[in-house]
Amino acid sequence: MTASPQLLVSRVVSVLVLFAALNATSLCGASALALEGGPLPHVGKATLVIFTDHAMDDEQWSALVRELQRADVRLDTSVRELGGGLEVLRGRDLKVGIDFAQVISVQVVGDCTLLPGPRRAVNGALGWVKKVGGEIQPFIHVSCERIVEMLRPIALGMDLDRRDTVMAEAMARVIAHEWIHVATQNSRHEKSGVMEKEFQVSDLLTDDPVQRRGRAGREKKHTSGF
Ligand SMILES: [Zn+2]
Repeated sequence: MTASPQLLVSRVVSVLVLFAALNATSLCGASALALEGGPLPHVGKATLVIFTDHAMDDEQWSALVRELQRADVRLDTSVRELGGGLEVLRGRDLKVGIDFAQVISVQVVGDCTLLPGPRRAVNGALGWVKKVGGEIQPFIHVSCERIVEMLRPIALGMDLDRRDTVMAEAMARVIAHEWIHVATQNSRHEKSGVMEKEFQVSDLLTDDPVQRRGRAGREKKHTSGF
């Protein structure tokens, strides 16, 4: 998952992107889960465990859980593994052992606090997963840094709640995209929808009712530049 093509220096398939510096991070997530081991209760539904390198306040966290739940329901028809109920846990709150095989770890990179700012080029992937030995690993990475950069220009005039909401919507969209790669073990992309290879702001906020209302007349103007 990458930003729109106009802004990218290099275009890559997200599953093939190797971010050496972040490999260690996802391994840490795996270790944390394994260490919490003990007797492993069966988890019947999908569980996302979110690890962050910057603190998320309660409002940001609630918005993210809400948007992930919404994404889970919307994606029910496209991926069987999705839509069966979703539990979202904070990595730091992991107290009991969970069935590791059914968990997807999400490593959030950077500060997810959206503040208004000028439009800037966004280089690099918004989210990615890795393929190891032919298998797409259940470790999703999401770059809040880059998502924030993309959304800054539209954040002007938004109150805190609204900024938390659009940020959470965009993060949920990127996570859903990578999650589908993991659930389907398929690295292919589609021409439209959540599995598009590159997202513009309008794609990140495609299910946002406010953005959708205002988009009709502005779409052409904004297809490039974000
Ligand atoms: Zn992708």
